[in-house]
Amino acid sequence: MAEVAYWWRGRLYREGEAPPLAVPLKLVRVEAVEWVCPRCGERAEWGPEPRCPLCGARCEPRTRVEEVPELVDAAEALGRAFSRVCRARFRGSVALEPWGAFMPLFAWRPLDLELPDGSRLVGVYAGKPRFLKRGFRNGSTFELPGNLAAVVWSGLLECLAFEVEEPLKLVELLSASAGFI
Ligand SMILES: [Zn+2]
Repeated sequence: MAEVAYWWRGRLYREGEAPPLAVPLKLVRVEAVEWVCPRCGERAEWGPEPRCPLCGARCEPRTRVEEVPELVDAAEALGRAFSRVCRARFRGSVALEPWGAFMPLFAWRPLDLELPDGSRLVGVYAGKPRFLKRGFRNGSTFELPGNLAAVVWSGLLECLAFEVEEPLKLVELLSASAGFI
């Protein structure tokens, strides 16, 4: 049975010890090969002909099962984290131009939180529903559900919209976790 671990700010936690917004992750069993000395059991660095760092004997490969946390993308990580404190439903995403005309529409609270996929949550918004223009040329619109928008920096500014039950509680928790504001 796969064990569940909780990830928050670069650390893994057990259930019960995990901060409220920690992301539940499955621990996945993977097979790893290590090179072990048949004489003294010391492990060698991998190389064309791995040798024991202590006695110099030729090492032998040994397969070992390792448990590593699964990798989830930003939207999934946020969905799981938010669902722990208030039910969250992912509604979609839209790319924002960093200095585009609609940026002032966002009265978000700045945050700086790393997500398990390495992207960063840079801000969070909670308020009334509003529509954003997706871009200047096609004129299509994107609905921000009002409940929450998470803005993630991952090469471009991406607004991930979630519907949550208690947006203000979530914003408070996120703000406290970010360590400033
Ligand atoms: Zn050895």
